[in-house]
This record gives sequence, structure tokens and C-alpha cells, in this order.
Amino acid sequence: MTQRTSSDPAISGQPPAPSLSHRIGIPKRLALKIWRRDHWACRYCGDAVFFGPALRLLEKRSPGHGYYHPHGKGQSMIDVFQMRWASIDHVKPVTNGGTNDQENLVTACWRCNLAFRANVVGTRKPPPEQTNASAEHSGWDGLLSLYPLLGDSEDDWSRLISKELASRACDH
Ligand SMILES: [Zn+2]
Repeated sequence: MTQRTSSDPAISGQPPAPSLSHRIGIPKRLALKIWRRDHWACRYCGDAVFFGPALRLLEKRSPGHGYYHPHGKGQSMIDVFQMRWASIDHVKPVTNGGTNDQENLVTACWRCNLAFRANVVGTRKPPPEQTNASAEHSGWDGLLSLYPLLGDSEDDWSRLISKELASRACDH
């Protein structure tokens, strides 16, 4: 299987981001898997996170309300959306030989991602929490299920999400 890499800034995170010089693209499908596994909660602080592309669509629908900003400049994005933007963190940093294996990937809110970027566990970066039970039971999905309703076209995300929603419906 060829690993398609993604340059989608929503995954490695971009809104308020200083650019990552050593970013490894994470395939969208894999990112969805990690966020779902972690129940849409940051593995470092436990806060609920938002599916960034849904915020982007909200901003497109209703510009100027601070849902999203391509560069996250100044006060252009509402703080909670900016800081709880779902990203993926490499537990062992890529610069330290960390890979895209699922065991090395965790859901991180943007605030934690910025705080621990490129740090190594045991220095400034804490080991990730176990997926927390309250997140598991909250049913929060980061606004993921709204994404297909907000968009006006079929894109990669829509296709992946429709598949996921269909498989979820079959679970019962
Ligand atoms: Zn966090």
C-alpha cells in the first residue's frame, strides 16, 4: 500500500502555526482514525477538539465571525476554535526518528501542539494521557458529522466522512 501524504494544513495544523520545517504529511484517513480513536479529545490536556476543516467551512459560509483564518493572525480567530483545533502530534518527534505509526500518533489540541512541539517526552513534554473515559462517553465528534452538511462539493474529507458515518450506522 502506498502511503499518500497530505499537505492539508488541517492535519499538521496550520491556523496559528509557525510553519513546520520538518512536517511529515499524515494521510487524511489516518488522521481521522487517530481523532476517532482518541474520541476527539486532546491526549495531553483532555480538552475536546474541533475538526478544523468544519471550522473552515463555517468561515466560508459566514465570513468574518472568527471560525477560521488561514494564518490565525491576531484576534482573527475566536480563541477557543484556534486553541482547540484538532491536530496530530508525534509522541516521538519526527526529528528524533518518530514515525507515522499509530502508536506514535496522538490527538493534540493546537495549544498543546504548540507548547510541546519538537519536545521529547521526559523533557518538557509529558507522556500522553490514556484516552479519557468522559470523552469516550460524551459522543463529541469535533463537528465532523456536520462537515458534509456545510460543504457544497464532494471533496476528500466528504468522501471519507460519509464512509465513516455509514460504517458507524452499521455498528448497531
Ligand atoms: Zn491539549
